[in-house]
Amino acid sequence: MRCLEKSNNHFKKAITRMPLGVSSNFRYWGDDKTIYIKRGKGARLWDIDGNEYIDYRLAYGPAILGYADERVDEAARKGMEIGGVFALSTELEYEVATRVHRMVPAAELVRFSNSGTEAVMAALRIARAHTGKDGHICVEGGYHGVFTEVLWYSDVEDWSPKDGDPELLPYGDGVPAIVKPLFHTVPLNDIESLERMLQRWHKDVGAFLIEPIMGNCCGLAATRDYMLAARALCDKYGVLMIIDEVKTGFRVAKGGVQSLLDVRPDLCTFAKAIANGYPISVVAGREDIMRNVGDGVVHGGTFTGHSVSLAAANRTLQILEETDALATIARYGAEMKKGLSQILGKRGIEHCFTGHESMMGLFFSEDAPGDYRDWVNTDYAFYDSLAQELHDLGILVEPDSREPWFFCEAHDVKCLDETLDKFERAVDITLNK
Ligand code: PMP
Repeated sequence: MRCLEKSNNHFKKAITRMPLGVSSNFRYWGDDKTIYIKRGKGARLWDIDGNEYIDYRLAYGPAILGYADERVDEAARKGMEIGGVFALSTELEYEVATRVHRMVPAAELVRFSNSGTEAVMAALRIARAHTGKDGHICVEGGYHGVFTEVLWYSDVEDWSPKDGDPELLPYGDGVPAIVKPLFHTVPLNDIESLERMLQRWHKDVGAFLIEPIMGNCCGLAATRDYMLAARALCDKYGVLMIIDEVKTGFRVAKGGVQSLLDVRPDLCTFAKAIANGYPISVVAGREDIMRNVGDGVVHGGTFTGHSVSLAAANRTLQILEETDALATIARYGAEMKKGLSQILGKRGIEHCFTGHESMMGLFFSEDAPGDYRDWVNTDYAFYDSLAQELHDLGILVEPDSREPWFFCEAHDVKCLDETLDKFERAVDITLNK
């Protein structure tokens, strides 16, 4: 059993100064389970009690090469020498924008900001300006950041189809009800629902916002047929397609999930993996649409185009573009799935995987859920319990089964063997509980 004495003591101090004792609600795991990290290196983390973990959360995806990667940190140090951030631009912005465009051709024009939230918020604003329509359609179970226009979800838990569309509820308090009419949801991969929604709302809706591998819903994936049909429907109804690649971008492929599916969005967003953990995000897209920025649409921010983040992004993207790092990561993911399957199969435990080799969802059921409605009805008690055992053994996976396991270039054979060994033990402990 891990000792979390120092983390527990620190929590008692931190809670007196910070709500929940953390800077992001998602880092609070309970008063006696919240962990404080001392440092990370490669694929490993050490908490302040000295517990070591192999990390499959990777800060929700950014550490694509591993923590404290020397190549990227060296570039960031050079970025520091530029002087940080100014009330003016640097040449680095163009250099990174050009790299992004080369890797993702749909990113004809690019603007930088700091977080995924800011990038998606900008994408929706640009879409509203371009189409003159304020609403947007999202996919049930999706997550696109912490701003009010997307902090809604479909309450499918107590819902039955005969009641009509599921009720929309805010994610938490303080989300103004006045923005609710802007937000609509459709189930993933259900093209009839999307068409029905567009027929009904196309005069009010300017954007269809989708994350085709749902990084906040177990990696559930849109099919290529669905994406192509959705693309055609967006064109038919004068609605922009925004692909949110905050998690998938520069992870599932050099050109993102849009290159895997061969679908060209009107706008797209990137963040996490772009700079191996340094804060930077991108909203990008079709030139005529992006030209709305500066021609009516406000986009800015004190810290946008920070030279440290840009320098880190430039180096990270260079590595991802010029080496086979992403293929290495995908191979690790494939080996992991094979190993987990053997362990579970030996014990007759039904399971399946969703997502991609570099961000994998794990389910304890015969069939993978097709969409969020299926996920809600999946029994995830076994997963929750297993995740807890894994933490105790030093394997850090997200406690919520909706969040995939993330892999990075620094996960090596040693990590794989150790993970599989501990996974086997954790499964047996969970089974015998
Ligand atoms: N979009 C997606 C798909 C995300 O996964 C996230 C964060 N998990 C965001 C947007 C928001 O990004 P950030 O947390 O950097 O604001």
